[in-house]
Amino acid sequence: MKSNDHTEIHPSACPHDCPSTCALEIEKLPNNKIGRVRGAADNSYTAGVICAKVARYAERTHHPDRLMHPLKRVGPKGSGEWEQISWDEALDKVAEEFLNREAQFGPETIWPYNYAGTMGLVQRDGIDRLRHVKKYSGQNSTICINLAWAGWKAGTGAYRGADPTEMAKSDVVVIWGTNAVHTQINVMTHATRARKERGAKIIVIDPYKNATALSADMHLMVRPGTDGALACAVMHVLFKENMADRAYLEKYTQDYQSLEEHLETKTPKWASEITGLAVTEILEFARIVGKTKKTFFRLGYGFSRSRNGAVNMHAALSIAAVSGAWQYEGGGAFHTNGQLYHWNKELIEGLDTLDPTVRVLDQSRIGPVLTGDKKDLGDGPPVTAMIIQNTNPMDVAPDLAKVHEGFARDDLFVCVHEQFMTETAKMADIILPATTFVEHDDIYQGGGQNHIMMGAKVIEPLGECRSNHEVITALAKRLDAKHRGFGMTAMEIIDETLRASGWPDAKSLKSTKWINAQVPFEQAHFLEGYDHADGKFHFSPDWSLIGPDFSGMPSLPDHWDVIKKADEDHPYRLVTAPARNFLNTTFTATPTSLKREKRPTVMLHSVNAKTVGAEQGDLVRMGNAQGSLLIHVELFDGLQPGTVIVEGIWPNNAFVEKVGINLLVGSDAAKPNGGAAFHDSAVWIKRA
Ligand code: SF4
Repeated sequence: MKSNDHTEIHPSACPHDCPSTCALEIEKLPNNKIGRVRGAADNSYTAGVICAKVARYAERTHHPDRLMHPLKRVGPKGSGEWEQISWDEALDKVAEEFLNREAQFGPETIWPYNYAGTMGLVQRDGIDRLRHVKKYSGQNSTICINLAWAGWKAGTGAYRGADPTEMAKSDVVVIWGTNAVHTQINVMTHATRARKERGAKIIVIDPYKNATALSADMHLMVRPGTDGALACAVMHVLFKENMADRAYLEKYTQDYQSLEEHLETKTPKWASEITGLAVTEILEFARIVGKTKKTFFRLGYGFSRSRNGAVNMHAALSIAAVSGAWQYEGGGAFHTNGQLYHWNKELIEGLDTLDPTVRVLDQSRIGPVLTGDKKDLGDGPPVTAMIIQNTNPMDVAPDLAKVHEGFARDDLFVCVHEQFMTETAKMADIILPATTFVEHDDIYQGGGQNHIMMGAKVIEPLGECRSNHEVITALAKRLDAKHRGFGMTAMEIIDETLRASGWPDAKSLKSTKWINAQVPFEQAHFLEGYDHADGKFHFSPDWSLIGPDFSGMPSLPDHWDVIKKADEDHPYRLVTAPARNFLNTTFTATPTSLKREKRPTVMLHSVNAKTVGAEQGDLVRMGNAQGSLLIHVELFDGLQPGTVIVEGIWPNNAFVEKVGINLLVGSDAAKPNGGAAFHDSAVWIKRA
């Protein structure tokens, strides 16, 4: 589409790891440049609104620090001494190292490591085709979704829920454990519409008065990791005060009598002691929920990032089943649409070659894996070579001391395919320059909404940048990995995958820009039954069906007391929340984001600051058994004393001692299916 003599407008989708997956309109300027990026006004979820960081995407795409050429390390690891080399030389070197190490240790010694720096299905997941064909070590991708998804599935048996645009038709929108203003602005679009048009209330549940809480009508400032207690007390009140929908419970749920009996002691007073909320606040919230049938629970990821996260998600989700809110348009709950799209990913991921006997390593345990922890490596070989796409574990993984130690190993060969010189790229032996989403073809699915979107290439790749798909196919050739997907273009794979999954082909998707994949109301609200074999919502889930490590998990919603509690030696509980201008570390290279975020700080209640003897702007030392770091104080009374917040994720080099906040976050795998507890650390704080 031409907007004027010089500018074309191209439809696309935001590729970043954000549930909104906004439908975009990208200005293409002369000289192979992009201009302004806008939200598509005619997409029902995006509704013309996107976040500021992506609106200024030209700043990132045309950043002078973009990696433009393959590089070979010529100094010691991490020295920053590089030599520019040709693509052939770079790929030949990677293949030679992989083949040598495979010959010595077997294929499981190679660990392709990737995540969601792009969410495009072909460019993100094509690395798995190489992994499966070559029988390289697998990856259990636990870093984000496992805990939340486990809790949701335990209740509903599915990964879908009410259409999130229904929030605009709600009388109460509960935004639970997600700072939507920072991380998925479109939730606010629809919630605010309900407030404007229907006088709806917005209720936020979050450990601190963040930007979303500031815009709420009611904010329940819970202690981190205590959401399960709040949910139980709410359900206790619903039963006690005759606001539970017994007809709904009888027809659609399993075991509600046991739940009611179990909740007898889960009073607001009991929950008040655990959550730090006042009894009156809990009662008020419960009564609003009980009396407002059109209550929409938008359940986020944040509150699941605790060792009891799966149980908390399941407990919060259970409220809508007790109140019967699911029966009403504008009522019910939503977390993810992971299952809506019925993809056939055989071609993209090479699933026809998947060998289930190959070792699978836990992504969040990269520190212990690279430092040779036998619990992680099992009987298999050490990891001696990696190719990394779409992620920056030197900054974002938990247990950073081990991660840094692992990447410093001289015997570890690392190839990083990246857009910028991230701190992971700095530890590479070979760096390959990567395209951004406007320079390659891909398709996207909404996690926090319900569209499949085409994101065709807008401009030619800059410099010598190549897409993930091109790199994987070029490596496959050198590694003698055979699969028909390696001989296809990205658009051919998109086309075949769409058709194999029962969707219109690539040409049709290009012309319609997106497909609304939402299922009918009855299915979205589980009015035809939940996805368990008995068709019921499960209050007492069989956790063994969700993940292998289920022992000790409570059989009914509860406050599961396995979090890292504050104690005399570690009086503060740390939450590592997302900053507004970063998205993980994706935008930490763009000057506007850096300028707006200023520097890493610990948000400390004035009561605690007094105890520590610190004032605004002072440097303090914060630590636990995993290490300690220096950080500046930001006095902030919008949290409970004892809770501290560090927004990020700032790269290591933004910290005084060049090690980031995840130094203090444990990498122990949470139950039942792994996952890092990013908001579940206990720390001490001292004057520096
Ligand atoms: S809100 Fe999320 S999906 Fe939308 S443009 Fe911003 S980062 Fe992308």
